[in-house]
Amino acid sequence: MSLKYEKKDIYSAFSQEEIDNANGYAKSYMNFLDKARTEYLAVEEAITILEANGFISLDEKENLEVGDRIYFVNKNKSLYVAVIGKDDLVNGVNIVGAHIDSPRLDTKPMPLIEKSGTALLKTQYYGGIKKYQWMSIPLAMYGVMYNKNGEKIKIAVGENDDDPVFTIADLLPHLAKDQMKANANDFIDPEKMSVLVGSLKDKESEDSVTDKVKMNVLKILNAKYGVEEIDFARSELSFVPAFKTKFIGLDRGLIGGYGQDDRVCAYATIRAIIDAADEMGPSQNKTAIAMIVDKEEIGSTGTTSMSSRAFDMFVNKLIEKTNSMGTDKLEVYYNSKVLSADVTAGVAPEYEEVSDIQNGSMIGCGISIEKYTGSGGKYNASDANASYMSEIMSILDRNNIMYQVGTLGKIGKGGGGTIAYILADKGCEVVDCGTPVLAMHSPFEVTSKFDVYMTYLTYKAFFKE
Ligand code: MN
Ligand code: MN
Repeated sequence: MSLKYEKKDIYSAFSQEEIDNANGYAKSYMNFLDKARTEYLAVEEAITILEANGFISLDEKENLEVGDRIYFVNKNKSLYVAVIGKDDLVNGVNIVGAHIDSPRLDTKPMPLIEKSGTALLKTQYYGGIKKYQWMSIPLAMYGVMYNKNGEKIKIAVGENDDDPVFTIADLLPHLAKDQMKANANDFIDPEKMSVLVGSLKDKESEDSVTDKVKMNVLKILNAKYGVEEIDFARSELSFVPAFKTKFIGLDRGLIGGYGQDDRVCAYATIRAIIDAADEMGPSQNKTAIAMIVDKEEIGSTGTTSMSSRAFDMFVNKLIEKTNSMGTDKLEVYYNSKVLSADVTAGVAPEYEEVSDIQNGSMIGCGISIEKYTGSGGKYNASDANASYMSEIMSILDRNNIMYQVGTLGKIGKGGGGTIAYILADKGCEVVDCGTPVLAMHSPFEVTSKFDVYMTYLTYKAFFKE
């Protein structure tokens, strides 16, 4: 027996049956990713899956019994799910939390302009992006608008094969001499990231109207959705990549798609709480809580973020409805265990120099446990306790799940955070653990289908503890 730790990969360690299972899981995940293009849609899609598996809204339940499956929607953009276990809440619950917002381009409150014979929607980017990656690619538009009567209108253009798409037309290289001199942070001016939405003039406008293309777009929007220009101010519209999720490589080992950070972990979280409950039935010991939350990419602030006290309210409701009155919510947190289900950076093949390879996460070597996040001298890190690392590693070992331990990159090369610290601040034991991703925050992020599957197996095993 070797004293040395050797990283394994899927083919050296797993049976053909497990590999087939991973393929099946990957396909259902890719299907989810194509539908869950925004946090709104991720919540809707998750509810569809949950309801098909016997989950009902918490509001419909007066009292909660062992085995009950419920969910609570927080303002349409985040979702808390629970399966009630036998053990008292005060002894702690098992929580897996992922986020469902992804980097994208949001429209400005008054976005519609006309320039050089085209109608454009002005945008403001959401989350940390390399702006040039979002130029000259097909974009789809998703979101909601409210009209003056307060009616909600759902918008989705670009998802069907015969839908039009949108794009930001980048400057041609022939005339980009000045642009190309600027550094990569600056050479795309975010104020110029305006999306093409029209080019035809409204024929009925009077000659004196100088912005007939804009008029035409407004007419189309009015005919299709009954909205006027001012209604953009009461909308949340996002442009996201229009291309579908695909297998990558001649061997089809990788998955390419938009929004894998962090919908890969969100989907695994939802599937895991369902399948753990199915497999455990009434013998499930700990109450399981799965949550998929919004606004992680902009610092977890706001009503639908992990920081929102709406989660505390949800836990209060669980205490009340399980007849655990008198239980201190803080004590529930103190005794609870959390997996912060978020992706991490895979070691980038052509940029190995930014990773400490021995402490890096390799694509295809399983789910990655990240003991701590943050940057520099562990600033703003959520740093898991060694005892908790030991507990989680032993769950994975016992369940024969392939995992690796990693950090985001070399010290000083950057850094990042997740929702982990928010739950740690409540007093829970928490560690980050999720799928390694290449080209994170790009329009086409890359994962290994085996890591994706190991992520699901990890969360499921954790819920079954
Ligand atoms: Mn993330
Ligand atoms: Mn992210």
